[in-house]
Amino acid sequence: MNFSEIKGQDKAVRNLRAILASGKIPSVFLLSGPDGVGKKLAAKIFIQAVLCSAPDKNQSPCELCPSCLAVQQGIHPDFKVVDLAYQANLREEELSKQRTLRVDTIRHLRSEMSMEPMMGGWKAALIVDAENLEIESSNALLKILEEPPRKTFWILLSSQDQALPKTILSRALKIPFAPIAPKLVAQILAQMGIESSSALKLCAGSVGKALEFSKRENWPGILTKSPLSAVQACEALPRDLPSCRREADLIFFSLSENLRWFYHQGKISFERFEKAARDISWLRAAVRSNADPRASVLLACLKAQEAGLKN
Ligand SMILES: [Zn+2]
Repeated sequence: MNFSEIKGQDKAVRNLRAILASGKIPSVFLLSGPDGVGKKLAAKIFIQAVLCSAPDKNQSPCELCPSCLAVQQGIHPDFKVVDLAYQANLREEELSKQRTLRVDTIRHLRSEMSMEPMMGGWKAALIVDAENLEIESSNALLKILEEPPRKTFWILLSSQDQALPKTILSRALKIPFAPIAPKLVAQILAQMGIESSSALKLCAGSVGKALEFSKRENWPGILTKSPLSAVQACEALPRDLPSCRREADLIFFSLSENLRWFYHQGKISFERFEKAARDISWLRAAVRSNADPRASVLLACLKAQEAGLKN
C-alpha cells in the first residue's frame, strides 16, 4: 500500500505526507468526508508509514520491513482497527448485533493502547465510523485523548462528523476528504471492468458506494424522477429485512450526498438542501433503530424530490 493508490484526494494526501515529513505526529486526527472516497485506505497507509522502519522519500511505507508486512496482513500488534467487527470479536457476539461502539470497547482499547509497543515504535488506533460512538464511549475516548499514552496516536474516520462531540472535534486535527469527481469515478470503475451509468449517477462521488450500487440486480437506477420512481425503488428493495436495511442505508446515502452535490452546484438553495438532508438523516437513523425501511425510503425519495433533486 502506498499513497499513489489514493485517487482524487490530492490535498488530503499532501497534508498527510507533510505531517510524515515533519516527523511530528499529532495525537488525534479526524479524517472526515463521505463514505467510500478513500479515508480508510489513506489512514492505513499513513499508519503503516509511521510504523515502517524505512519509508521512502515520498513518505510512502517501504512495504518490505517486518512492520509493513504485519500491517498489510492485518496482524500488527501495535495497530488496532476499532470498528463494529472489533467489538463483535471482543464481545463474542454476531456482527449484525453491533450497532454502536460501546464504552467497554473503548475501555478495552485504552488498556491495549497503554501497553508498551511490541515492535518498538508507535502505537496507533483507527476508529472507523466514529459517529457510532455512544455518548458514554465518546466521553471515555475524550478522557484518553486529554492525556494520551506516550507514543500513541489516534485516527478517527467519520462521514458525519457533525454528530461527534465538539470536545473531541476541537482536539483533533481535521483532514477533509472530498467527493471524487464523476469522471475519475468512471475511470476507476472502468479499470475494474465495471460500466454502470446508474451507479455513477447515484454514487455522489463515492467509489465505494458506486461499487455497491453496481452489484445490485433489478435496481431501478432512478430514485427521484417522479413519485412513481420512488415507489419502484421501494418495490425493488430485497425481501429479507437485514438486506433491505442495508440497501435502504445506501439509498439514504445517495439521496443526501446528491442533494449536497446539487446544492454545491447551485441547483438548489441552502434552505432546501438543509431541510431535506435533515429529514433524510432522521429517517436513516430511524431505520437503523428498527423503523420500517420501505416506508422510510419512500418518504426520503419524496422529500428529496420536493427539494428539487432529480436523477
Ligand atoms: Zn516498511
